[in-house]
Amino acid sequence: MSTTIPHWIDGARTTGVSSRRSDVFNPALGIAEKQVVLAEQSDVDLAVSSALKAAASWGESSLSTRTRILFAYRQLVHEHRDELAAIITAEHGKVLSDAAGEVQRGLEVVEFACGIPQLLKGEHSEQVSRGVDAYSIRQPLGVVAGITPFNFPAMVPMWMFPIAIAAGNTFVLKPSERDPSTAVRLAELFSEAGLPDGVLNVLHGDAFAVNALLDHPDVSAVSFVGSTPIAKHVYSRGTANGKRVQALGGAKNHMVVLPDADLDMAADAAVSAGYGSAGERCMAISVVVAVGDSGDELVDKIASRTRELTTLPGTDPAAQMGPLVTGVHRDKVKSYVDSGEQEGATLVVDGRGYAPSGHENGFWLAPTLFDHVTSDMSIYSDEIFGPVLSVVRVPTFEDAVDLVNANQYGNGTAIFTGDGLAAREYQHRVHVGMVGINIPIPVPMAYFSFGGWKDSLFGDTHVHGAEGVKFYTRAKAITARWPRQHGIDLGFPTHG
Ligand code: NAD
Repeated sequence: MSTTIPHWIDGARTTGVSSRRSDVFNPALGIAEKQVVLAEQSDVDLAVSSALKAAASWGESSLSTRTRILFAYRQLVHEHRDELAAIITAEHGKVLSDAAGEVQRGLEVVEFACGIPQLLKGEHSEQVSRGVDAYSIRQPLGVVAGITPFNFPAMVPMWMFPIAIAAGNTFVLKPSERDPSTAVRLAELFSEAGLPDGVLNVLHGDAFAVNALLDHPDVSAVSFVGSTPIAKHVYSRGTANGKRVQALGGAKNHMVVLPDADLDMAADAAVSAGYGSAGERCMAISVVVAVGDSGDELVDKIASRTRELTTLPGTDPAAQMGPLVTGVHRDKVKSYVDSGEQEGATLVVDGRGYAPSGHENGFWLAPTLFDHVTSDMSIYSDEIFGPVLSVVRVPTFEDAVDLVNANQYGNGTAIFTGDGLAAREYQHRVHVGMVGINIPIPVPMAYFSFGGWKDSLFGDTHVHGAEGVKFYTRAKAITARWPRQHGIDLGFPTHG
C-alpha cells in the first residue's frame, strides 16, 4: 500500500474528509510510490478557519516574538537542509545538490524576514500643521493563501510564507500536488520553531482547492506562481472576488550572445542554465540568441558540452541532470522535440530514447539542442519547460532586442558581451523583469524582489524583498493632535 501524504492543518497532520487522491511519482523509477490527499470544500474551510482563528492572536504578537521564532526556524531549516533536499529529489527528480541549492535560496528569504522589525518601520512627520503630527504604519492583511508550482517545492513557498507570517498574517499554502511532501516538512519545522498552531497550514489539492481558496470570503490575498494560463485565471478570479493577488506566470528566457563575448564562457552558461534541473526552472535559458557571426562557433561549443552531460537519477552523485517530473510532462516535452524537427529546425543533439540502465521506466529525456530555430516555430513560441535549448541566429544587436521584446514572456534574460555600453543599452531597453549581464540565471537575492513583466506576472508587486513586505501589508496613515482649545471650523483642513 502506498504512503498517503497528509495536509498540515492547525499544527497537525490530517488526511481530512476527502477521499480523493492523486499519485506522487518517483520520477527516476517512473513508479507512483505515494498518494497525496486532494482537498474538498470542507478541508478548505477547515484550513482557512484555522488560519483565521490564529490570525487574531498572531497579528497582535510582538515583533520580538515573531523574530525569535523566525530565527529558530532559520536554524532548523539550515540543520535539515539535506533531509529537505532528499524529499525534493525523491518527488521532483532534480539532483541533490540542486535541491539543496533551492533550500538555501528559500532560507535566504527566512533570513530576510528575520529583519521584519526594521522592514515594518513606518514613517513619521512631526508638525505637519501646528501641533499636528502625521505618521503611517503597515498592518497585516489577515489570511493569505499561496499556490505554488512543482518545480521549486521548497524555494517558491519560501518566497511567500516567511514574509507573510513575519508581517503578522496567517497562511494557507496549496503546494503542487506533484511533489507535495516538502511543504508539509517545512510547516512541521516551523511548528517546532515555536510557530503557533494555525499560523501556517498546508492544504493539498488540485484546481478545486485553488478555486475554493480564490472564492473563500476569509482569504484576503493570494500569491500564485505557476504557468501563465493558470496565473491569468488566478489573477482574474481572485481580484473579481476583491482579493489582493500577485500571480507569477511562465517564461521563455533569452540569452543574447554578442560576437565579442567570451564564447567558451557563454557556452558554459548556456548549457548550465539550459539543462540545470532538466530545464524545469522558470529562469532556465530556453533560447540562445546568437548575434552576427557568433553562431557557428557558439553552437559547436554548446553541442560538445551538451553531449558530455550526465543524466542519471538525482540521488546519484555523478548526476548533472535528473529525469522530468512526470511521464505526462516528459511526453509533452518530447512532443516539442518531434515538432521542432518537423518544423525545420536543425536537431544538433537529440535526447530522445535515452534511459540509464536499471531505470528504464523513469521519465527521461536527455539534453536536446536545436539550431536555426525561427520565431514562427512552436519550440520558440511555447514554454517547453524541459531540457530543450533552441539557438536563434540574428544579424544585429537591434534584431536581438526586437526579438526579446516581441516575446509574450518577460521573466528573465541575459546578455553575454565584453562591451559595457552594449550591456547597459540592453539592460535599459529590454522589456523583461530580471536581467543578467554575463550571468545566465539572474535570480535576485532575497532582499531584492523577484518577478517578470508581460505574461510572466499579473499584479502590481514582485515577490520577496521590499515588494513582498508591501504585498503582505496594508498602509494606514494617521494624523494626530492633542489640542487644549476647542472650536468649530467647517473649512477643509489646510496647514498653517
Ligand atoms: P501549473 O500552473 O500547472 O500549477 C501551479 C499551481 O496551480 C499548482 O499548485 C496547481 O495545483 C495549480 N493548478 C493547476 N491547474 C489549475 C487549474 N486549472 N485551476 C486552478 N489551479 C490549477 O504550473 P506547474 O506545472 O506546477 O509549474 C511550472 C510552471 O510554473 C511553468 O510555467 C513555470 O514557468 C512556472 N513558474 C514560474 C515562476 C516565476 O517566478 N514566474 C517560478 C516557478 C515556476
